[in-house]
Amino acid sequence: MSEVKVDNRIGGAIVPAKSGKVFERRNPADAREVVSIAPDSDDADVKAAIDAACEASLQWGRTTPTQRANILSKASGILDGKVETLVAGMVKEQGKLAADARNECSRTPKNLELYATEAYRLSGATFPSDDTPLVYSVRGPVGVVGVITPWNFPLNLASRKIGPALAAGNAVVFKPSPLAPLMSDHLASSFEEAGLPAGVLNVVHGFAAGAPLVADKRVNAITFTGSNATGEKIHREIGIGRRVQLELGGKNPVLVLDDADIDLAVNVVMRSSFSLAGQACTGAGRIIVAKNMFDVLLEKVLKEMKKIVLGPGNAPESTMGPLVDGVAVASMESAIAAGVKDGVEIAIGGRRSAAGELQHGFFFEPTILLGAKRNSSVVQNEIFGPVVTFESVEDIDEAINSANDVSYGLSASICTQSISKAQHCAQLVEAGMVRINRPTVGAAFNAPFGGIKQSGTATHKEQYGPTVMDFYTLQRTIWMGS
Ligand code: NAD
Repeated sequence: MSEVKVDNRIGGAIVPAKSGKVFERRNPADAREVVSIAPDSDDADVKAAIDAACEASLQWGRTTPTQRANILSKASGILDGKVETLVAGMVKEQGKLAADARNECSRTPKNLELYATEAYRLSGATFPSDDTPLVYSVRGPVGVVGVITPWNFPLNLASRKIGPALAAGNAVVFKPSPLAPLMSDHLASSFEEAGLPAGVLNVVHGFAAGAPLVADKRVNAITFTGSNATGEKIHREIGIGRRVQLELGGKNPVLVLDDADIDLAVNVVMRSSFSLAGQACTGAGRIIVAKNMFDVLLEKVLKEMKKIVLGPGNAPESTMGPLVDGVAVASMESAIAAGVKDGVEIAIGGRRSAAGELQHGFFFEPTILLGAKRNSSVVQNEIFGPVVTFESVEDIDEAINSANDVSYGLSASICTQSISKAQHCAQLVEAGMVRINRPTVGAAFNAPFGGIKQSGTATHKEQYGPTVMDFYTLQRTIWMGS
């Protein structure tokens, strides 16, 4: 495949960065291949996109629910009609296995279908009052919404923000990850093809386009998914009077209790820790195991790990794809080096894999670390790759204490055959999402998704679920006098 040129989309026009600067996105499975070339936008491009959004938002905010729902449904159909093209592009640009890419590419149109129907559900309420016969609330759009996304689910995550924002009548400025410009452009073009008016959805690519989008006070709300470091900067910048929602990182545990079904637990660990090469916010970096289960679980997981075949996402034999880029490889190496300094032992993996053709990509051996102390950086910090610690615990209380002894609180799995232990842990483990005998990864299409503690803004209204529209709408209460 030859590289695809992607441009910004501003006010209905497809334009390069004003500076003319571009950047390349290379295939993480074979960095010799340039997949896309996109504009490296700066403040001037972002300002033009916000100008366009401000202008378009008034008109769009007055459209009927049916007008908005029709466009979302049409965009959904357009994406659905090119799932295989999207899969091929996503595998090359992002690196995930074709099966995982297909999963994401087919889920994205469904998100838009769901949000199309939300346009009809922007309801208010009436309130009994001593004051006047009618007190009621109504919802309207927020205005201009800035959407900033990471690279690991370039279609799905962006659709979960752009979809509800548009359904509520907001105009959007979308700043996708510079590691996934091609996928973002496919998403944006589907709305344009569906007839979305010019300026309602604007896209600015680049490494430095996020900060000016957040800084511009005309942007009424920022919805962000990404790292804690960036999330903290955005949170500081946003101030009073504007909205922000942050979906951040995790250091998610799998708790394997003393009565767990061992083979099921092995499956939960493998899927939680190594699917998407560990590059999921909900991926498990800590396996906390009852001492009677520790040796057998470790042995069985090691056996499964030895069967993993690293390779490009489009090779049928591959069972784990590459990391997203060389920075990610360096970050694995430094996290593991810090762990070793703290006294951890590498049970398996621990290195970049560069055998044969893999030398051209960013492959990393799935890794287990043993003997890490609770306060060690490998236990406390998100690593965002296929690197996990195994810890032995005496009992369920110690398991819960260990699970909660980090600043994050996104997802957690409990492996047990006891309903009462499952319920006990589900109440006490500090995570926005708790899964019983299920992997930490994955999301329900229509259920709330989000974290607590440092994993986000903890409103638990973000993205999926019936409360999703709260962020994208302003409520106003009206006292009707006679
Ligand atoms: P990142 O924070 O590096 O980048 C995310 C986005 O922010 C990119 O578009 C980037 O260009 C932009 N950005 C960078 N600096 C900015 C600034 N100062 N102001 C505004 N925007 C700025 O994150 P990433 O590496 O792309 O993604 C990986 C992270 O995302 C991991 O921590 C992962 O856990 C997290 N994540 C969380 C969820 C969730 O739902 N909680 C889902 C996926 C990924």
